[in-house]
Amino acid sequence: MQETLSHAASQKRIISYLRRLGNTPPNVLLLEGGSREQREELGLFWAALLNCSSGDPCGDCPTCRQIGRESYRDLYVFRGQEDSIKVDDVRPLRQVLADKPYEAYRVVLFSEAQELTVPAANALLKSLEEPLSGNVFVLLAPQRHLLLSTLVSRSYPFTLSQAGMQTGPEEESEVVPWLESLLRFWQSGTGLFEHTGQKKAVDRHLLGRILLAMERELHRAYLGEDGGPLAAYLRRHLAPLYWARLDMALAKAEEIVRHQVNPALILEWLALTVWRWLREQPARDCQ
Ligand SMILES: [Zn+2]
Repeated sequence: MQETLSHAASQKRIISYLRRLGNTPPNVLLLEGGSREQREELGLFWAALLNCSSGDPCGDCPTCRQIGRESYRDLYVFRGQEDSIKVDDVRPLRQVLADKPYEAYRVVLFSEAQELTVPAANALLKSLEEPLSGNVFVLLAPQRHLLLSTLVSRSYPFTLSQAGMQTGPEEESEVVPWLESLLRFWQSGTGLFEHTGQKKAVDRHLLGRILLAMERELHRAYLGEDGGPLAAYLRRHLAPLYWARLDMALAKAEEIVRHQVNPALILEWLALTVWRWLREQPARDCQ
């Protein structure tokens, strides 16, 4: 573990990201890029970060050592490199997940998560969506595009590369105008419904990408990172108290999308919700 951690420590930027993220760990962390070994190291680092009592994995305590040996009782590792990860492999997890972890967090890690079969992924979806507190998931894959989209849409993605890390791809051209419309709406109360009102302006897939982009911007705002205009706006205008609520609203929106609700209505609901928060929150100094 010591060696693992010191190796991982060389990837300072990722580590500092994970440290900050560790305060409020996302339900599902997706690490893509880099080599399989790097991804697994970081996955274990994340497990140690969440469980080591020093709060900054020491690499030396019983918890860190057990995580390094993968013998920690709140750590579950599934590997897809030998064979696909089947529903029978993950089924016993459901019972485990229902119980509280022994220590701080139960970490369920899937290496080569693209090898999860569709039935196995489906069996996990409910746990990924509504995790009982104390359960966190880690998906490791060469590229997120190899994973089932239902998994990706529930994940908070990080991209590793040899040179370091970037967060997510830049927003796609199709998504950008919608983010701009949302911003304009929050600032002025206009400029969105003209768009959503157009027939078939937003379909489920586009909405999914808009939600993902919003999540990314929210996390950038949270981490104090440079992001797009949306991250800057949220950081400046929305009280941090509401960030967790926005995170939940985004998760709820993703949930409703799958129930055949008109995607335009979902986007309008989300826009109005934030618009209301912006007006009800205590006055906020611009920084
Ligand atoms: Zn430790």
